[in-house]
Amino acid sequence: MNNSLVTVAYIAASALFILSLAGLSNQETARKGNLFGIIGMAIALLATALNGNVNIAGYATLAAMIVPGALIGATLASRVAMTSMPELVAILHSFVGLAAVLVGIGNYLGEEASLTGAEATIHQIEIYLGVFIGAVTFAGSVVAFAKLRELIGSKPLMLPGRHLLNIGFLVGTAVLGVQFMGADTPAGLQPLLIMTAIACLLGLHLVAAIGGADMPVVISMLNSYSGWAAAAAGFMLNNDLLIITGALVGSSGAILSYIMCRAMNRSFISVILGGFGTGQTSGPAKAIEGEATSTTVDDTVELLKNARSVIIAPGYGMAVAQAQHAVADITRILRDRGVTVRFGIHPVAGRLPGHMNVLLAEASVPYDIVLEMDEINEDFEKTDVVLVIGANDTVNPSALEDPNSPIAGMPVLEVWNAKQTIVMKRSMASGYAGVDNPLFYKDNTLMLFGDARKNVDAIRAALVQEDAAAPALVAA
Ligand code: NDP
Repeated sequence: MNNSLVTVAYIAASALFILSLAGLSNQETARKGNLFGIIGMAIALLATALNGNVNIAGYATLAAMIVPGALIGATLASRVAMTSMPELVAILHSFVGLAAVLVGIGNYLGEEASLTGAEATIHQIEIYLGVFIGAVTFAGSVVAFAKLRELIGSKPLMLPGRHLLNIGFLVGTAVLGVQFMGADTPAGLQPLLIMTAIACLLGLHLVAAIGGADMPVVISMLNSYSGWAAAAAGFMLNNDLLIITGALVGSSGAILSYIMCRAMNRSFISVILGGFGTGQTSGPAKAIEGEATSTTVDDTVELLKNARSVIIAPGYGMAVAQAQHAVADITRILRDRGVTVRFGIHPVAGRLPGHMNVLLAEASVPYDIVLEMDEINEDFEKTDVVLVIGANDTVNPSALEDPNSPIAGMPVLEVWNAKQTIVMKRSMASGYAGVDNPLFYKDNTLMLFGDARKNVDAIRAALVQEDAAAPALVAA
């Protein structure tokens, strides 16, 4: 493939990636956005493989790497449950980081002798920075994966002097950088490898220090880092498309992290510095007093029957139980009876940005009744019944009422302001952040214990039966 054709292909792929991002920003256009991304990536792969300037040792070797890789990736991705998607994303970020590290080291060892003076210096800086970002991304993503998969606890790791430790890692990286820049190939390999180990420790420590409710920001931040790692690899390999793609991922991930920090009332800088400036509370979290009142499916149906307005607040438990289709049916039945039904979506509900929106879209819930937290929070006061389905941290009043709570300051869905709140979950257990929830003990809260799917199915069945017995319930 000649140079100008490759350039045209790269421009087309870049444009498709931008269109893909634009499409993914809206539920109605997300499918199209995905398709643009797939086409762009196919063009990018083909153009790179056929690029005459790239030194490809042999197409047989390339195929031997790509074909099994694609097959394994496709099989794993098609089998992954929606609830495990965040783990998949985290581990994929770690691959990008690892790739940047390997490309950097390989590039250093096979350095082009043609580069001299300032060009050679810039190339070395690219390698050093690329390997550093890649190693932080790799190790950080592995810890994020382990936390999401609950292989390790979600509580933040609070080592004494942890900020000094991070500063020490950074100083070590800078000192080794000076050594690396002053050494000839291959003598610079030693400081490069030691820095890689230090950067891995930094990545491990930064993510381990962030706990519970701040994890969503970490995931999108690692997404951003993986983009910058890819961009750095693009500079090393002199590949414009990789630079553009990396910059797109890096900047969109950074914007998403910022938006999530704002939504959760967290300091962006504090989160990216491993929780710097957090954790200073004036005492222990408030003890929760009182008794929770449990209810039954029949009583819940009775409350729904008499309600004029209902808000559903879904959370991670709805995803685990795969209750979204039955929830969509209940919504339809109630709306047919003239009840106003809406959904309140917290920005970090579930385990993935947009997790609830994806599930509800999959179950064909109309987009216009799915509202963001800010759009619906004031309406709880005017609502008869709120159904909290497998949500916990995102509806925890201690975020607003207890300054010593680990989630203090995080805006939440104020479901307790409704006339009646029904919480569906299996037990009194805490959510992802490991924080007790006083909502369960409020006078106007009823607990409907059990698997969300089983309970929602039973509510749906009761409503369907009623409709069949008295069709007049359904508004004309
Ligand atoms: P939570 O994780 O706070 O709570 C989910 C609740 O669902 C649990 O308390 C559990 O209680 C219940 N549950 C689990 N399985 C079932 C089931 N089969 N049937 C009924 N209930 C079930 O969920 P939220 O969505 O409210 O909050 C999300 C949390 O995850 C936040 O802390 C957020 O920061 C964090 N997070 C979010 C990410 C994102 O990007 N959105 C990424 C990483 C973390 P029980 O065991 O009693 O049933």
